[in-house]
Amino acid sequence: MLLLRQPHKTTSLNRTRELPRYKPRVLDLLLGPDEFESANLIARYLAKLTMSEALFTKERHIRYFLRCLKTFLPDLYTSNDSNRMLLAFFTLAGLDLLNVLESKTTPEERQGYIEWIYHCQVPSGGFRGFPGTDFGDERRTRENEAWDPANVPSTFFALVILLILGDDLSRVKRVECLRWLPKMQRPDGSFGEVLGPGDNVEGGGDLRFCCFGAGTRYLLRGKSDAGLDGIEDIDVGKLVEFIESCQAYDGGMAEGPFCEAHSGHTYCAIGALTFLDRLSSSPKRVPLISSGSEQHESLVRWLVSRQTTELGDEEDSDEDSDEGQEIDNADDLTKAVAGLSLDESISKLPHVLGPSAETLQWAGFNGRCNKYADTCYSFWNTATLDMLGKLPLVDAAGNRKYLLGKTQHLVGGFGKGVGEPPDLLHSYFGMVSLAFQGEQGLDRIDPALCATHRTVQRLYALPWWQGTE
Ligand SMILES: [Zn+2]
Repeated sequence: MLLLRQPHKTTSLNRTRELPRYKPRVLDLLLGPDEFESANLIARYLAKLTMSEALFTKERHIRYFLRCLKTFLPDLYTSNDSNRMLLAFFTLAGLDLLNVLESKTTPEERQGYIEWIYHCQVPSGGFRGFPGTDFGDERRTRENEAWDPANVPSTFFALVILLILGDDLSRVKRVECLRWLPKMQRPDGSFGEVLGPGDNVEGGGDLRFCCFGAGTRYLLRGKSDAGLDGIEDIDVGKLVEFIESCQAYDGGMAEGPFCEAHSGHTYCAIGALTFLDRLSSSPKRVPLISSGSEQHESLVRWLVSRQTTELGDEEDSDEDSDEGQEIDNADDLTKAVAGLSLDESISKLPHVLGPSAETLQWAGFNGRCNKYADTCYSFWNTATLDMLGKLPLVDAAGNRKYLLGKTQHLVGGFGKGVGEPPDLLHSYFGMVSLAFQGEQGLDRIDPALCATHRTVQRLYALPWWQGTE
């Protein structure tokens, strides 16, 4: 029955549920008892409160990111221990985006973070995602190094964090890393995650790893090949071919050929092409990033269509709980099939109100068709549109109101959806999406590197990157 159900029960009341409970008491003072009983009136009132509260609470976000940096993360992050490089990126990039990294940390602390990143560099090139696999350089051999491998996404994040912290990358094993990178590419052009025993490419294979592979190449190869004589490059043509093969029938990009389009993978596809394009002196343009081509126009249409007023709320996750009734035997199955009635099912469908001028004010983004809005998709979609030069096509005010009024958390940070607690990924991506739209209090940001322009300028200032040394 899943297909027959409306994707979402939305009422104007449940759109405001995330507000603190003390607010109805304020209403109690303002309204008579009869009026107080009117749910619609309350909903409208609370909606107005939410609108007036569409403020970016910068000081709370600073405190949130500092808590994540300087105290223990909540236990829910335990299973992400092997992703500590990524968590470090969100934390430090968040403070940098808020332009307080230098004022809220000491030079000694920043140097300590830099040393931690370099500790995660493996001798044969690239960075591990956390120190947990490190069994010591003195014990490391060609035979056992597959058990402490460099990791493609972690390498990209390590390099960006070093730039955020003001490091000049002078201790990065640039040549070793650039020799390792082509080994991570599969014959179909895609990238894996790590090099396993026997130099087998393991993990990855989807567009995320293509993006980090191309990004690492961008960061380390630079505009000039100076000093890189004889160092094999990745197969750029094959990588582009793989990315192009991932465009789905509806215009979006999927994790692989013939899969469902997804905004995260779409960001990674365009991110990878942007990195390749920035270093390329060739006039040949890839159609996906060339305005006017069928591939480009359908991609942009798909991205813009991800903006939605279907915001979801806490109750929706329980909505499907009665769907998975277990059927133990054939008799039960016969009864269950006999009970299926299309008319009955249709009559049970909730009454869904169409969008109104009021509900259209909060418009987040989803990552796939028929899904609810989610803070991170505000990033994946707007960042991609920004790279394509098409950001003005979205309803920026609706996105801002969704992020500030619905997922910005009282204690700082952003949650994944309405009423959810903040986490590092959604907090950073929520802010980045706002930064694209010029939110006051946030620095300008590069959509491909996902870091501030200040950080990008540090890369551009490196003589070997510009080819001036
Ligand atoms: Zn998300």
